[in-house]
Amino acid sequence: VTARTFVIVGASLAGASAAATLREEGFEGRLVLVGEESQPPYERPPLSKEYLRGEQPFEKALVHPLDFYEAQGIETRFGVRANRVDPSERVIELEEGGRIQYDKVLVATGSRNRRLPVPGAHLEGVLDLRTVADADRIRAEVAPGRRAVLAGMGFIGAEVAASLRQMGLEVAVVQRGEVPLSRVLGTEVGRILADIHRDHGVEMHFGERVSALEGSQRVEAVRTAGGQTLLCDFVVTGVGVEPVTEVVAEAEVEVEDGIVVDELSRTSVEHIYAAGDVTSHHHPLFGRRIRVEHWNHAIKHGAAAARSMLGKGTPYTEVPWFWSDQYDHNLQYAGHHTGEEEMVVRGSLEDRSFVVFFLRQGRVVAAAALNRARELRRAMELIRVGVPADAHLLRDEGVDLRAPAKP
Ligand code: NAP
Repeated sequence: VTARTFVIVGASLAGASAAATLREEGFEGRLVLVGEESQPPYERPPLSKEYLRGEQPFEKALVHPLDFYEAQGIETRFGVRANRVDPSERVIELEEGGRIQYDKVLVATGSRNRRLPVPGAHLEGVLDLRTVADADRIRAEVAPGRRAVLAGMGFIGAEVAASLRQMGLEVAVVQRGEVPLSRVLGTEVGRILADIHRDHGVEMHFGERVSALEGSQRVEAVRTAGGQTLLCDFVVTGVGVEPVTEVVAEAEVEVEDGIVVDELSRTSVEHIYAAGDVTSHHHPLFGRRIRVEHWNHAIKHGAAAARSMLGKGTPYTEVPWFWSDQYDHNLQYAGHHTGEEEMVVRGSLEDRSFVVFFLRQGRVVAAAALNRARELRRAMELIRVGVPADAHLLRDEGVDLRAPAKP
């Protein structure tokens, strides 16, 4: 490939994956990786688990070793924010001043945490979790017997609750819905997770909202819409994310729940590509656009975008997949479902050993598994192939999941 300049905006997991793939695939031009955080790209899954609990050093979370970038001839601009992509002049403008000319640019800016829009959110001791710096702030609050209130019980709330309990803290959660993680996993699976957390001593307030955070300088209590006052030493909010799209705001790139890209990671503007959880990407398997906020997607989508930038792209059809470890339970999910699907349970919800299949028009479009990793991998294959599956066979534990297709 002739010497050209490719710029990756966002030293995220998706950005790091794209950079490495460009070199692996033979790109010999100038390659610049710009990222707002001062650290090299790292993986976030340990931040709510092993790293938060002090079981794993930060270095283990690095996507590539420190010397990788120089060795690969990747110019890094860490701790530098990109202000905007200007497609008319094909430049990236940096906040600190300076411009980088590009031939192609990949936007991999990821997401940012939503703030809890309540009085007192600015108080000391009100924390959230996205970066390693955030994780360090939570770690600094950790001591056995202290009491944390978590606002929201999505992935962050559920994983942080488990980690803090494992470290001997008192934990209460305030969650809008009736069960944790219902948006992604459905009510039935969410209820099982709630039981697991209850068994581990998490105090749960479901169907409730945080209405205010109270304290003079530091947070001392959480007020709920239902009129409860929950005393606390600190608060962790985990109320979802929004894609970071400002960098293309003036570039007339189509944005709708993320930067819209086709199955080759192309945005609506020539030479601008996007990958990872900042994108709403058209997914051929589900026949619609989806936005996926998980680790595996960042790696795969970043790599796919890199190949596409080199003109070697193939339609991105990867089945979304993620896991979440909470206490000694392993939860996994694959596919994409909307909540309107037929649900088929294989195994036992009560025994906490199951795969739940979500079927749309007789085809498996998603599956969630608790402590059944191997069957989940097989379910992924069913999602990928998309043939009609027989609910009775899926349910029957005597039937190999490699063969539940209708005759
Ligand atoms: P999330 O999983 O989307 O959960 C958001 C939670 O916030 C839900 O419980 C939701 O409740 C609640 N919520 C939303 N708005 C609220 C409000 N105004 N007041 C109170 N509660 C509100 O997001 P997250 O837990 O913040 O996680 C952040 C990101 O990290 C996500 O992209 C997530 O996928 C990712 N992550 C992934 C993993 C993993 O894959 N294992 C682990 C950690 C984090 P309702 O459902 O009731 O609306």
